Amino acid sequence: MNLNDKVAIVTGGGRGIGRAIALKLAEVGATVVVSDILEKEAEAVAGEIKAAGGQSLAVMADVSLAADVARLVEETITTCGRIDILINNAGIARDQLLLRMSEEDWDKVLAVDLKSVFLCTKAVLRPMVKQRRGRIISLSSIAGITGNKGQANYASAKAGIIGFTRTVAKEVGSHGVTVNAIAPGFIETDMTGQMKEDWRQEIKRHIPLDRFGTPRDVAEAVAFLASDEAGYITGQVLGVDGGM
Ligand code: NAP
Repeated sequence: MNLNDKVAIVTGGGRGIGRAIALKLAEVGATVVVSDILEKEAEAVAGEIKAAGGQSLAVMADVSLAADVARLVEETITTCGRIDILINNAGIARDQLLLRMSEEDWDKVLAVDLKSVFLCTKAVLRPMVKQRRGRIISLSSIAGITGNKGQANYASAKAGIIGFTRTVAKEVGSHGVTVNAIAPGFIETDMTGQMKEDWRQEIKRHIPLDRFGTPRDVAEAVAFLASDEAGYITGQVLGVDGGM
């Protein structure tokens, strides 16, 4: 499997799962546009890729803003000449029981986790359809499938990604563009790092593979879905959750 000559955008690529995806795609030959809301983090990951002999570009973008997304895609095409792979990874959580959830936290999570997927996917579709090849992979979550206490906003956004993925897959399949989602379970990143130990142990009891996942576990699945070998897979939601 290789992604030689392919150009990939990874949103939220500055740390966590996004960083692991950026490094993995570069490892198998892609030119990776590392995008993040923090320029410094994106530049650090792009620097790591270049230091390892790969090709990378850092672009600051808040993916909940249409103007930033338009600039991200424009800079990618101007600098790298094309866009073959989009990884919709950027995401946030603002957990609270629904009775205490503010409208602001609802809107913020829906904007960063779901509207961003609409904005980024729409922005790359035209060039992908024109070249009759493209891979769009979005990070959903097990929370979007099963629901999770305290995450009405997050679970709604992640469930929305599944409906979006299945719909767009039907719209663009005949143009050679595949659209899939990954639904990670519990992965060791800053997002899950703040969980209390007794809660971590409780969750672990429900993971048949008996451990939390690593960002690399998710990156391996993403790289496969981005490859030519996954050309007959579209509209799917792949669980990377240790069997949860
Ligand atoms: P993370 O460690 O919190 O990293 C998220 C990245 O997204 C950060 O680099 C963050 O930038 C960036 N970001 C936040 N808001 C942004 C915005 N508006 N525009 C652009 N970038 C933005 O999260 P993670 O655990 O790696 O999660 C990555 C994805 O996987 C998310 O979509 C998440 O919902 C999903 N997921 C994670 C898990 C898990 O267990 N960790 C499970 C299921 C799904 P800053 O550094 O500036 O904050």
